[in-house]
Amino acid sequence: KLSNRLQRIHDQIPEGSRLADIGSDHALLPVAAVRSGKAAGAVAGEVNPGPYEAARKQVSDAGLKERITVRRGDGLDVISAGEVDVITIAGMGGALIASILDRGLSKLEEVKLLILQPNVGEDILRRWLLEHHWVVVAEQLFEEDGKVYEIITAMPQELSPIANEEVYRARPLEGGVELTSDLLLRMGPYLTDRPTDVFFAKWESEIVKLQSVVQSISKSDQESSRDKAAEMESHIVNLKEVL
Ligand code: SAM
Repeated sequence: KLSNRLQRIHDQIPEGSRLADIGSDHALLPVAAVRSGKAAGAVAGEVNPGPYEAARKQVSDAGLKERITVRRGDGLDVISAGEVDVITIAGMGGALIASILDRGLSKLEEVKLLILQPNVGEDILRRWLLEHHWVVVAEQLFEEDGKVYEIITAMPQELSPIANEEVYRARPLEGGVELTSDLLLRMGPYLTDRPTDVFFAKWESEIVKLQSVVQSISKSDQESSRDKAAEMESHIVNLKEVL
């Protein structure tokens, strides 16, 4: 049985997709997706030997070697252009996911959907998507086993029902506060529009963390550190206004 996190990713995959799951580890997601019919076939990519062997074993034990190819390699190196229409990348930092996408840009040309689950650095990932004409079409934020997870689903601009200009358009909040594009990139445009308890808890704890960093660096002898502290301080003020 899939974890709630992997199940949510699975559920975003359109029926009958040709799937690549990058950083697949035990290949749980492609196995479940092929079994459910979400994927007609799949590639499970792994760069590290341990997880690669674990993926091979899982696929073999499931009797799905005909439908799922396990390949060892870095990021999107394991697929060829036009081979898949959906890519999932889950359980890594947003900066690593963005760099995998960036290094595999030529493989993305015929891809219709990216389903991404960054553990941290969601803002870096959203910025990469925006700069490369991918539109976030759905976001999920949820808690599982005391950890908060985010899933970001994106489509190429030409297939998306909504434009990036619309998604990141600055909007007013109650009390004269403006939600800027910058805040939307950090906090998530859909998550901010429909904030849940998990959303508030996440950002309140983020503020506490930022405040303790500000405290320690604002006493620094170095001007650059004090400048950084001032910058973070204003970021905290912005965040607080949204909450
Ligand atoms: N995707 C699975 C999940 O969400 O449960 C596994 C997540 S696991 C924490 C991250 C996996 O990504 C590891 O197995 C690691 O070996 C793999 N990985 C890290 N960098 C990678 C890269 N550049 N290319 C392919 N796999 C990578």
